[in-house]
Amino acid sequence: MGRTCKGLCLRYKAEPVSNKIRYEIGQKHCTFCGLFLKLDETRCICCKAVLRTKSRSKKKNRELSIPLINIDHKIHSL
Ligand SMILES: [Zn+2]
Ligand SMILES: [Zn+2]
Repeated sequence: MGRTCKGLCLRYKAEPVSNKIRYEIGQKHCTFCGLFLKLDETRCICCKAVLRTKSRSKKKNRELSIPLINIDHKIHSL
């Protein structure tokens, strides 16, 4: 609520590079401030909006660690 651009983003403004490599080199886009920023944060330090990253998450295929102990080992005794 009440997002405002305080101009802080200008301090972290990323250097102009090709759009193709912007995300690859770690630049993040604040859609609110309309700038590419050089930040480690996930949110804009200026307006607190979530920064846009295009990083293809390596964790996309999350390994679901389902314990196999649920298998019923009970032997059906006749
Ligand atoms: Zn800003
Ligand atoms: Zn911002």
